[in-house]
Parts: sequence; C-alpha cells; structure tokens
Amino acid sequence: MAEETILESTERTSGREALRKNVQAAIALAGAVRSTLGPKGLDKLLVDDSGQTLVTNDGVTVLESAKVEHPVAKMIISASSTQDRVARDGTTSTVVICAEMLRNAWQLVRQGIHPATIARGYALAESFAISALDELSIDATREQIHAAIETSLAGKLDQSMGKHLANLALDAGEIIVNEGRADPTMVKVIKQTGGSMNQTALITGLALAKSKIHPEMNERGGPGSILLLDGGIERRKTQLDTKLNITSAGMIDAFRKSESKSLLSQVENLVEIGCDLLVCKEGIDEEARQSLSNNGILTYRRVEKKDLDLLSRACGANLVPDAGRAGKGDLGAFIKTREELRGGINNWILDAEDGGATLIVRGSTDGILDEVERCFADGLGVACQLLEDPVLLPGAGATQVALARRLRRHAESVPGREQMAIEAWADALESIPRALAGNAGYDGIDSLLKLTAAQNSGGDSIGLDLLTGEPNDTIKRGVLEPLNITRQAISGATEAAISILRIDDVLWAQMDAQIPDGVQEQLQGFGAE
Ligand code: ADP
Ligand code: MG
Repeated sequence: MAEETILESTERTSGREALRKNVQAAIALAGAVRSTLGPKGLDKLLVDDSGQTLVTNDGVTVLESAKVEHPVAKMIISASSTQDRVARDGTTSTVVICAEMLRNAWQLVRQGIHPATIARGYALAESFAISALDELSIDATREQIHAAIETSLAGKLDQSMGKHLANLALDAGEIIVNEGRADPTMVKVIKQTGGSMNQTALITGLALAKSKIHPEMNERGGPGSILLLDGGIERRKTQLDTKLNITSAGMIDAFRKSESKSLLSQVENLVEIGCDLLVCKEGIDEEARQSLSNNGILTYRRVEKKDLDLLSRACGANLVPDAGRAGKGDLGAFIKTREELRGGINNWILDAEDGGATLIVRGSTDGILDEVERCFADGLGVACQLLEDPVLLPGAGATQVALARRLRRHAESVPGREQMAIEAWADALESIPRALAGNAGYDGIDSLLKLTAAQNSGGDSIGLDLLTGEPNDTIKRGVLEPLNITRQAISGATEAAISILRIDDVLWAQMDAQIPDGVQEQLQGFGAE
C-alpha cells in the first residue's frame, strides 16, 4: 500500500479519547469471558471459520480463538496467554481484573487525575499487595495440594471426573518430581478413542502404542542397556536416478552380498557393545531382524522422533545415526520392559530411572479426548508448581478481599492523588468475588459486602460458598489456589493495565477494530459524555 493511502485511511486519536476507546475495548473483552469465571461459570460454544465447534469454559481458549484486531485487546489477550504459559491457570481472572483496573482508572481520569499518576498509584498498590500475599499464604499438605488441583479444574469437567483427573495429575507429578523440580513434559499423553473417560489411567514409565518386531522373543526383561537409533538397519534405498553400471552377471549378486554383510556387521557391533534393547526411528530389514532375534536384542522400530527424545531423557541414552558406529558410551539404561494390552491396544511400556509417566486418555470422541487432555495438562501444571513450591492461598474470592481490605487501610497513609489510585486498584481486585457470585446467580455487590463483613470478624480465609451464596472458610472447604497463580494474575493484570494507561496516542485504522461478537452491546452507553 502506498504511504498516502495508509495516511488517508487512518485517523489519529490522542490523549483522553484514545484512553476511552482502549478502556472500552478492555471492558468488551472482559465481558466475553467473565461469565466463564468460577465453578458456576458457563461454557462457551466456539465455532471457527471452517465450522468446527469447541465447547470450553476456559477464558484463554475463548480469547485466543476470537478474531480480535484491536491492539489493546491484543495486549490483554497476550497477558492472558502469558498467564497460561507461566502459571497454567488464572487466565480469566487476569483479563477480568485488568479490565476493571482500566474501568476504574477511566473514572479517575474523568475526575481530572492524570493517567501517569494513576499508573504510579497502581504500581504502588501492586507491590504492597504482592508482599501482603506472604501473610495470607499457607504451607500445603498433600491433601491440600490435591484440593488445589481440584479447585483449578472446577467447572471444566463434572465433579467426579475432576476428582479423578486431580488424582492422576498429582500422581503423575509425584512420579516425575526429581530433586525438587517437576517438569510436566516428562509426562507423555496417549489418546485412545473408545471406552469412557473415567477409564483414563496413568502408567509409571513411558508407554508407546507399539509391538516388538520379533513374535518369537519374550517381551519382558530388564534391567539392561538400550540403544536409540535415529535411523534403521536397512538396505540403502536406491535413488530413482541411480544407475548401476552392470558389466557382468555376478555384479548384482556381489552388490547384494555386500549390502547384507553391512547389515549383519551393524548387528554385530550392537552385540559387541552389549545392547539389550534397540529402538529405532526407521525400519529393520528381515536379515537384520533375524540376527537381532538370534542375539537376543529386543527391537522396536518406526518410533517417532519425539518419543525417541523422551526415551533419550528417560534412559540417559544418546540418539545415534548409525548402528555400526555406536559405542558403549551411547547406551542408556532401562529398568524393565514389558508389553500390555489395554482396551484392545497393545502398549509397550518401559521403566527407567527418569522414566516419567504416561497418561492413557480414553473417551468416546476426539472432542472428549482433547478436552480431557487439556484439563489434565492444566492439572499437571498446577501439580508440578505445587510440588516445587507447596504454598497456597485461600480461593473463592477470599484472597482478593483480604488484599483489598489491607490496601484501603494502607492507602490512608499515602499522601497525594496516588491514594485514590490505590483504592481504585483495590476495588478492581474485588471484581473476582463479584463475578464469582454473579455467575452463581447471586447479587455481586451484596455478596461482596457480606464477605467483607465476614472477614472482618472471621479472618482472611473466609471466601464465598457458591452453593449457598454465604461466606465460609475456604481452608476448611479446601478451595485453595497456588500462590504462584494468584500472584502472577495480579502482576500480569497490573502490568497490562499500566502499559495501556501509558498509551496516549493511537493510530486507528479506519477499518474499525473488531471486538468479539455478542459483547458490542456492552459498549453502548459506556463513557458517553
Ligand atoms: P481462571 O481462568 O481465572 O482460573 P476459573 O474459571 O478457573 O478462572 O475460576 C477461578 C476462580 O474460581 C478462582 O477465583 C477460584 O478461587 C474460584 N473457585 C474455584 N472453585 C471454587 C469453589 N468451589 N467455590 C468458590 N470459588 C471457587
Ligand atoms: Mg482456572
């Protein structure tokens, strides 16, 4: 596009007007996901361009699939994606809090307070709140870790399935935790259609839907050494354009013989270095197969690269390109190898020192398998964080209200206009208990007032019971959240809000910025002066 056309089709919005539009966009975005917040949140049916449908209760999934063009909306979506990546949960809360911070900031701007002052006040409030989180946090027992995983899965699956997946996620986390670190990528997931999702199960070790290549060999064994081959033991494939210049009748025969010698010498090398188990990416030719079997080397072929990588980490083995040149140092160790039939599918299972675990997901449709896989990944993310750092905060809005109460007291000691910004920030945190109550069918403001009063006499761990709408103790009920998630949600929301407050000039393309469907009406009447 020529430069002129770009300038003609854009309009410069500056200062207050830019902020107003940006706040509108943030509120519209939060409107699209607020109703999914909490265990009583509603599901959203997403339909993409090709007509594929997805039912989800997950804020970040809704936002990432919405076709949003607005630059500010994109900033908030990216804060939510960061939350998903870093903390695996708390994505909806991040968006809801951020939008509320901007809404409250806009009210202050209308009263004549400069956005830079608000940004300063917000930063003060954030650092005060982050240090106050330590006073609210509790050291978790195993039972409480389990409860926190269940809390994070609440509303995504039915309750019994949520409990089942929370068990599996915690078991998986405990299998892979190593010297205080738990890396969720050590858990492999296999999806197998058929059966019901309650049959989803965890296996210690790495499972692959594979069978050994020698029917005559016993598949059980170990401990032993394993070699991983980033290739196969096969005859060289003649390229289409290769011409063998045959000059005598014996030549083809000689060529075949030399190829077969090379295959057998590769197997000889494996015997020499002491390989018991061979796993390769490509194929094994018949002669090599025979020889492997005669030498008692159990073999699996056509194993995907990503599984070879997992095996390499699990067994401490190198991935070598050529069986003929593999050395003793390339071998890894395994503890036990076996095969097991589950739901009609044969799985090869390998136990090793850092062998990880495998989740076998069962379900009647691909949609269910995907949803269970997503929920398990979220649960596992939470489990791993908590095994590394077992610190929890009260959920159900308790922490947000406890912080807001402290902040309001703290604000009194802050001279200057930042005081008002700190109060506005505290109000924004309370959008969480208000939305939780609202989504459960209670009045948001009444519930918040009841909750604040109940904390005043009963302490910081009082949150909302969404079955009755009444305040009660979240620690007793086990509605708990990892410190990491709540802290990241608060910081992420504040950082996004502050950077949006600092934008005072935006170039708007005339092709008006798009806002997710169905929330346009929320814009009407907002901020109209
Ligand atoms: P997010 O994407 O922010 O994690 P969720 O839809 O998962 O959004 O909702 C999380 C919120 O729901 C948290 O504030 C959490 O404390 C609250 N919550 C979860 N389970 C319960 C429960 N049983 N009672 C009350 N609040 C709950
Ligand atoms: Mg959640």
